[in-house]
Amino acid sequence: MPRFYVDLPFVVDSEINLPDEVVRHINVLRLRLSDQISLFNGDGHDYIAEFIVLERRKISLRIISIKLVQNESKLDIILLMSIIASDKFDLVVQKAVELGVTKLIPVYAQNTQRFKSDKLASRMEHWRRIIISASEQSGRAILMELLEPLEFDQAIKNNSSPVKLILSPHHAGNLVVSDVLDSATLLVGPEGGFSPAEVELANQYGFESWQLGFRILRAETAAVAGVTLLQAYFGDFA
Ligand code: SAM
Repeated sequence: MPRFYVDLPFVVDSEINLPDEVVRHINVLRLRLSDQISLFNGDGHDYIAEFIVLERRKISLRIISIKLVQNESKLDIILLMSIIASDKFDLVVQKAVELGVTKLIPVYAQNTQRFKSDKLASRMEHWRRIIISASEQSGRAILMELLEPLEFDQAIKNNSSPVKLILSPHHAGNLVVSDVLDSATLLVGPEGGFSPAEVELANQYGFESWQLGFRILRAETAAVAGVTLLQAYFGDFA
């Protein structure tokens, strides 16, 4: 059943008019009046809806049932992701949603290529659209939280996770697996890597160095591999 994010409150038996961008999206699918669709608004539920009006410019629906969605991981993963080339960062945003990351914070590391501050709003909107589309596809009914980019120092100082890890190919360190863990933070570097001073500062603030094998991974590969391993050790991949 096609599934769409709509930023509106839903009540069973009520009728709603879909916003224009969702109307355009549904038009592409060429659905029929007899079809049903699934809607979610980020409150952790899916809402099954039937069409009342299905026209090119107007779609009205009746909400006919509500279903609790329980596919969030028991592990809260906070991904501190250094900003990298935009197509690669987009990939990380999409994969983070699929892999069950709770919160993504873009980070300006020393070697980050900065974008102009007037571009921030459009970047945030772009990433938000990726989050919505990946949530529609993956079945998540709670949107991954996205914060505005933080400077490296701010990102590492304001973090209260019980386990904090900095991915670094040059600082040997294995993950010590403990049985119960409900939250973890993963810090991933930019294409040029972290400076030694950044790694040292992160270590001072409780980030343990974690090395993934002996090859240098692209930043986006490291993010996906790190999150996947956290889900496998402590989350819902076991
Ligand atoms: N030339 C850079 C360097 O030597 O640090 C390479 C950086 S790598 C392309 C980008 C980021 O991915 C790194 O800063 C680190 O966070 C992560 N990374 C890549 N390979 C890794 C590995 N084998 N173990 C842990 N982290 C890794």
